[in-house]
Amino acid sequence: MNSLIDKIARPEIAALVPYKARGGASADAIVLDANENPWPPLSGSRNNNRYPEQQPTALAQRLAALYGVNPEQLLMSRGADEAIDLLVRASCRAGRDAVLITPPTFGLYAVAARIQGAEVIEVTLDDDYKILPKAIAAAAKANPVKLIFLCSPGNPVGSLIPGNTVFELAASCPDQLLVVDEAYIEFSGADSVVSALSDFPNLVVLRTLSKAYSLAGIRLGCVLANAPVIELLRKVLPPYPLPVPVVDEALRALSPVNMSIINQRINQIKDERERVFTALGKSSFVRRIWPSSANFLLAQLQVKTDILQRLRASAIHIRDFSALGAGMVRISIGSAQQNNALLSAFGVLQKPSLPTRSSAVSRQTRETSISAMVALDDSEPVQIATGIGFFDHMLEQIARHGDFSLVMNASGDLHIDAHHTIEDCAIVLGTALRKALGDRAGIGRYGFVLPMDEAQAQIVIDLSGRPALRFEADIDDAGAGGFEGQMVQHFFESFAQHLGAAIHIRADGNNTHHLIEVIFKGVGRALRPALRREGSQIPSSKGVL
Ligand SMILES: *Cc1c(COP(=O)(O)O)cnc(C)c1O
Repeated sequence: MNSLIDKIARPEIAALVPYKARGGASADAIVLDANENPWPPLSGSRNNNRYPEQQPTALAQRLAALYGVNPEQLLMSRGADEAIDLLVRASCRAGRDAVLITPPTFGLYAVAARIQGAEVIEVTLDDDYKILPKAIAAAAKANPVKLIFLCSPGNPVGSLIPGNTVFELAASCPDQLLVVDEAYIEFSGADSVVSALSDFPNLVVLRTLSKAYSLAGIRLGCVLANAPVIELLRKVLPPYPLPVPVVDEALRALSPVNMSIINQRINQIKDERERVFTALGKSSFVRRIWPSSANFLLAQLQVKTDILQRLRASAIHIRDFSALGAGMVRISIGSAQQNNALLSAFGVLQKPSLPTRSSAVSRQTRETSISAMVALDDSEPVQIATGIGFFDHMLEQIARHGDFSLVMNASGDLHIDAHHTIEDCAIVLGTALRKALGDRAGIGRYGFVLPMDEAQAQIVIDLSGRPALRFEADIDDAGAGGFEGQMVQHFFESFAQHLGAAIHIRADGNNTHHLIEVIFKGVGRALRPALRREGSQIPSSKGVL
């Protein structure tokens, strides 16, 4: 037996023979061992008549790669919430054992402990909302503490606990599990303490897909810990905690092609957090505001003002934390537009701006996985990786000359040829631009481009909402850079279709590389005035586009 687990586990859990969930079966096996129904349900899903694996392998591998651990160091649960509950149930005997928390902190640690009948030992943060490691270690020794919960960045304060502080505490509390809840770590810029798992048998890290990965609705979180701790927790895990649609959605959302969009969005939240922090700091309604490493800000409002009514009148919800002191609130960071509404209610919106036009599209088929994020009112970033160097260069021309931000990643069946990837990128880019255009209010709508260099392209565009392509260019079949000549027309057919635009292209030139490039550049140039927002009217006598 592992001596740490001997100390941590409830003896009856250590001795428990766990309920044996049916494992995953190979696709062609005849599975008659779980009393399932042989037919798929009438809801249309393919295999929801089957129980899922207790810990679905594909998702475990994806999350292990994402978090930098081995699959046996990871346990998936219904949100980090359930992981907290599993930890308490596996370790704490009612009326005998205790957990240690550092208020103000996430409320569920104490609730889970009380449900289990465990005592809750509190070592309050200091006046600057920092943890007191020596006091924590002393209280852990003086009480029958099984679990120490730290939250980093902390909720509701937002401050990060430095890695070294965590490691020193793990070393000075070898008889407890030190649980570091990193629900918000992605917003901090700091590394997870998980890299130190091999140094500390008692270190446990909680992660979640709810915050940084926009997946609060599917309920998926993880415990990362050394294998003996994971084995212990598996004993109290329900047989089938993760519904098949949840697992499928997590795998789709975490597809590697989506990661640069996810990171881009995290960066946007961090930028917005700093903007809102600075602006609220100047509001006469705010007494004090704390810097944060998470996607929220803790603030103390002036209580004798009408700020709460002003927020209510704008239907803006913020979280009351008056238990921490009069006027204390926690404010989540939203989109730029939502934050502008907040700043406006606080009387500190610098310049009212039109809502930014952006969209993100992710499309996955058996042939390709592609994601794109466009922002029509920003020029940066332009980052493209389709696996076809020449095509990346062409897409960059559209974005740079069209003057919009484009983050695009593709992973396609290039071992067959480039056809599917090029066509599907056209679909995804066209769709992303169409979605970002929204109702097309205020746009220039039309675009024109005329000669360029020794090759020349004449391009006209109408963002009419009605797809059409006229293509008059004689491009050598051999193409350039692995990009076949005939794919140029094919790309713009799909692009026009999904963007909802009439595009007329006439081009000629001697050098195929130049000819293709001048077309992509020209389309970008023609898109530039067409995409640009000049007012607020829908540019059509019909009133819709
Ligand atoms: C939101 C939050 C969680 C819960 O995460 P889920 O995966 O949604 O259950 C855990 N810990 C902290 C500190 C949180 O703020």
